[in-house]
Amino acid sequence: MKLKIGLETHVQLNTKSKIFCGCRNPVSMEKEPKPNVMVCGVCLGFPGSKPLVNERVLEMALRIATAFGCSIAKETFFSRKTYFYPDMSKNFQITQYEIPLASNGKIEVNGNRIRISRIHMEEDPAKLIHVGGLGGRHVLVDYNRSGIPLVEIVTEPDITSPREARVYLQKLANILEYLGVYDSSSRAIIKSDANISLEGGARVEVKNITGTKDIEQALNYEIVRQKNLLKRGVRVRRATRTWNPDMRATEDMRGKEEEDEYGYIFEPDLPVITLSKKELQHIEKFIPELPEKRLKRFVKEYRLPGKIAESIVSDIGLAELFEEAAKKTESRLAGTWIAGYLKKTLNWNNMKFRDSGIKHEWVT
Ligand SMILES: [Zn+2]
Repeated sequence: MKLKIGLETHVQLNTKSKIFCGCRNPVSMEKEPKPNVMVCGVCLGFPGSKPLVNERVLEMALRIATAFGCSIAKETFFSRKTYFYPDMSKNFQITQYEIPLASNGKIEVNGNRIRISRIHMEEDPAKLIHVGGLGGRHVLVDYNRSGIPLVEIVTEPDITSPREARVYLQKLANILEYLGVYDSSSRAIIKSDANISLEGGARVEVKNITGTKDIEQALNYEIVRQKNLLKRGVRVRRATRTWNPDMRATEDMRGKEEEDEYGYIFEPDLPVITLSKKELQHIEKFIPELPEKRLKRFVKEYRLPGKIAESIVSDIGLAELFEEAAKKTESRLAGTWIAGYLKKTLNWNNMKFRDSGIKHEWVT
C-alpha cells in the first residue's frame, strides 16, 4: 500500500538567551530552573513590552538552511499567529508564515531524497502541566519555556515508511549537533507533527511526537488504525490527532484550528529582515564539516571500513573521541573498538557519548 509521510519538526535551539528578550534560555542551563523564574515582560506578554530579535537565532537558522541547501529569502519578516490559550499570554505567537526564512532544501535518507519545503523561526509557547492528567481539575503554566527559540523544519510528503521517518529524524538531529545549534545531551527537545496518508484515505495529522524514537511507533499505530478503518469500509477522514506517549496511541483532537483560522498578521514591533549576499557568504564560511563529509574523510584518512566510519560519525561525541584516539593508537583498532564495544554499550543504555559522562582521557 502506498504511503506518504511529511514531517514538521520543531527544534529548541541552544542559544544563551531567548528569541525576543534577554532572559536565559532554560535549555542551555545545567539544571532545570524552578517554574516561572526565567521570565520578563516580553516573554510574559505584558502590554507595552517590545520584542527584539536575538541575532544568534537568525544566525543559527541560517546555518541550518545553508546546510540543507535551501534558498534563503532576501527579505523576510515575523507574523503574529493569533490564538487564545494560556500558554501564550499575549494571545498570539510570533512566528513566520507568509515568507519563511528559507525554502526548497533537501536531505538524503538511505538513498531517498526528502525535500525540505520550508525552514522558519518562531517562539516556543509556555509549558502547561495538567495536574492529575488531561481530565484533571486544574492546569499549571510554566512561562520559562515561553520564548525559547525554535526552528521549524518542514518536509514535503516524501517519506515512505515509519522507519524512514525515524532515520530522517536521527539524521536531522545529528546534522544539527554538528552545526552546533542543538545539543542532545541538554534539555533541548525535538518535537514533530506528522502528516500521514494511505492510498485511498485522507491526510491525517498527528501532533506532539517528542524525540526521534516515538515517531516510528506513532506512525505504525496510525497506519494500523487507518488500515482497519479502510478494511471495514469506513472512509478515513481528514483529522488532527495527538500522540499520547503514555498510552502509546494516537488520540482524536477535536476542535483544532486549521491554518487559515489563525488569522496571521504582520508583526509590527519587529523589523523586516534583509539579508545581503555578503552576509550569506559569511554564514557559509562557518558551516563546519558535516557528517557525510566526515564519513568520507574517515574512510580516506584513517582507512576505516565504511560501516565503521558511518557508525562513528552518527554520534558527534564518538567522532571527536575517535579523532583523538587515532592520533595515539592504531586508527583501525580504535575505530573498531569505538564502533563496536563502546557504541553497543551506549546503545544498550540508550545514550549518546556526550550523555555518558565518559572523559576522553579514560579511553585514549
Ligand atoms: Zn523574557
